[in-house]
Amino acid sequence: MDLPERGALDLLPVIGPDRTETLRDGLRAAAKSLSGRTVWQINTTATGGGVAELSFSLLPYARGVGIDARWLVLAGDSRFVDVGKRLCLLLYGHEVAEPDEAGYAHYAEVCDEAAAHLAARLRPGDVVVLHDPQTAGMAPVLRRAGARVVWRCHIGSDLPTAAETWERLHPWLRAAELLVFSTRRHIPGPLRDSPVRVIPPSIDPLSPKNRDMDAAQATQLLGKVGLSVGISPLVAQISRWDVLKDMPGVMTAFRTALHASDAHLVLAGPDVTAIADDPGGAAVLRDCHARWLGLPRSERDRIHLISVPMSDPAENAAIVSALQRNATVVVQKSLAEGFGLTVTEAMWKARPVLASAVGGIADQIDDEHEGLLVTDPHDHAAVGRQLSRLLADPALAARLGTAARRRVHGDFLPDRHLLQWARAVRDLID
Ligand code: UDP
Repeated sequence: MDLPERGALDLLPVIGPDRTETLRDGLRAAAKSLSGRTVWQINTTATGGGVAELSFSLLPYARGVGIDARWLVLAGDSRFVDVGKRLCLLLYGHEVAEPDEAGYAHYAEVCDEAAAHLAARLRPGDVVVLHDPQTAGMAPVLRRAGARVVWRCHIGSDLPTAAETWERLHPWLRAAELLVFSTRRHIPGPLRDSPVRVIPPSIDPLSPKNRDMDAAQATQLLGKVGLSVGISPLVAQISRWDVLKDMPGVMTAFRTALHASDAHLVLAGPDVTAIADDPGGAAVLRDCHARWLGLPRSERDRIHLISVPMSDPAENAAIVSALQRNATVVVQKSLAEGFGLTVTEAMWKARPVLASAVGGIADQIDDEHEGLLVTDPHDHAAVGRQLSRLLADPALAARLGTAARRRVHGDFLPDRHLLQWARAVRDLID
């Protein structure tokens, strides 16, 4: 994967001189510790979703300070992708069938083969960061090849579920020397005694998705996906078409609030054909579409389903940005979430966010101060009520949006994130 380079100084206008200097020092120290070693990141998709987004955000800063950071995508066949998706859903606490023995055996085979391939390119002491359960199976072979292996888990459940899945993954995870989670509440019981760190993600304020955009450009981008800026107020959820994002539930909740305002709803997600590791996306989009077709015309006119083109990543990011910026309220009604980048992206744009208090989202938003949280994501009426409240009270929406941006500035920009990684890597190898 071709990656650009970025320096701590690029962030100076956003984070100021003190934070920039701390970041520069931290990155330089990590580069010194790492000298001669490569840091490999492995996940299962180059586009779409938070893990790809994070790699695009963070790796350029590491490369900018001279760290040889590289990103590889493990592209398995459809059977492997299916097992990977199941593992993710299970670890999120979603009820789906556990992979069968043959599925696990296939998973192990693909991971072993990919790991052997990488091992041939490794130098002893290289650091390999394996993302999520799909790549966890690579750990033992890489460890035997002399790599320092970190497992980065972006997902999890607030309840102690998936004991069987964690047990199945355990022999692979034992080979990793460090496990990293986005939120403490997702560290499962059996791994509490392993070396674990909590490192919440961040967003890059300089990326095409998060940097400022003028109104004319936003209008033009919205036009590309068939929306006019005249459509206002606008409620939007922008997510992958994943069952756990509950796009149909957003539609249901929005309908309970229809009478209270003349708002429109946008459900937007990436073109489902473009995401390598998300096989269920097409079915979710079809389900949304079928429900939409069943609505009365007056409601259909106020609900817009949008597939955001993925062929040009910069344009995709800019369209997502334009949608987030133009939303009166951004919703993230996830049923489970490791850390919702979409939430932080919207908060950075000073949008009032209405989200479920699940997983990392509960850490991202201070309820009633930086956004609104709904405790039970299945409670559509409660989501509808909070939506009506936000739409009826622009002063509240503005106050939440201002506090939201301040929170992201303090806690969820790349300097904090990179420094935590720099410290973790140094502690691992020094
Ligand atoms: N996203 C995107 N295009 C889309 C929809 C979403 O680029 O059409 C991005 C979104 O802006 C965010 C990421 O995908 O950066 C989703 O990350 P998040 O942590 O919210 O959820 P995940 O998809 O990782 O479960």
